[in-house]
Amino acid sequence: MEKRPIPAAVWACGALMTAGGCAHLATTPLAASAPAVAASMVAAADGLPDRSEVTAGQLVIHADFPIAGQHRLVRELDGLRTDVSQELGLPVSDEPVHLYLFESTERYDAFVARRFPSFPARRAFFVETDTTLSVFAAWQDRIAEDLRHETTHGYVHAVVPAVPLWLDEGIAEFFETPRSDNGLHRGHVAHLAGRLLEGTWRPDLDRLESLTAAGEMSQDHYAEAWCWVHWLLRTTPERRTLLQDYLADVRRDPQCRPLSARIRHELSQSGVAADDVKRHLAALGGVALER
Ligand SMILES: [Zn+2]
Repeated sequence: MEKRPIPAAVWACGALMTAGGCAHLATTPLAASAPAVAASMVAAADGLPDRSEVTAGQLVIHADFPIAGQHRLVRELDGLRTDVSQELGLPVSDEPVHLYLFESTERYDAFVARRFPSFPARRAFFVETDTTLSVFAAWQDRIAEDLRHETTHGYVHAVVPAVPLWLDEGIAEFFETPRSDNGLHRGHVAHLAGRLLEGTWRPDLDRLESLTAAGEMSQDHYAEAWCWVHWLLRTTPERRTLLQDYLADVRRDPQCRPLSARIRHELSQSGVAADDVKRHLAALGGVALER
């Protein structure tokens, strides 16, 4: 099996069981644990869905139930690959992203408890090891949103394994919305608008960049991460290019100059970025800011 160009590590993200999106969590990145997990995923007797298998572009979908390649959700997830690539200026990869779909939450919960006992309860999650990219999910009401989110992680990690935690989540939140919403996450807009009205929110990219463990990420952080990504992709061509250039650089050199420093240096002519992000959210949420 070909090795991915990342350290031996397990990187996992999952959608919270409750409303409020996803929590990104990384298991202890012990070098010894990754091969064990990777090997476990291909073991025949470990309860992974195997009744049907469909390939759609980069996706290999394994399900407990018959699933047609032309299923609307399969087509949507396959199309998401092009959207992610074009929005972020990234190449597409042929590296498989495996989607394991369980027919019931009971089957899924039992599998997770057996295979990933240290993971908190999640509706769906993404795991990256040094050899595989995998998504696990139970078929339930929010499956489309969850799979758009987790599959986005797969597409991004296939080409930018070292994407920073906050940006990884901000991008996944951007693409988990229905395509017709064009990246607008109404839940996050409402959440941050409430914070603005309370006077308890000020965007702070340095703070987001300092987050290194999924357990540190709160609902506020997910919402703000989405907001910065939306501001970069949906306001001016310069900001969009800045994000694309950063991703291209971090793909080659994970230690490259952080996005916050680039924004300060290259976009400072237009004012303080945090204030602009705040105004952007206020406009989206219909909040009148005091002058
Ligand atoms: Zn995530």
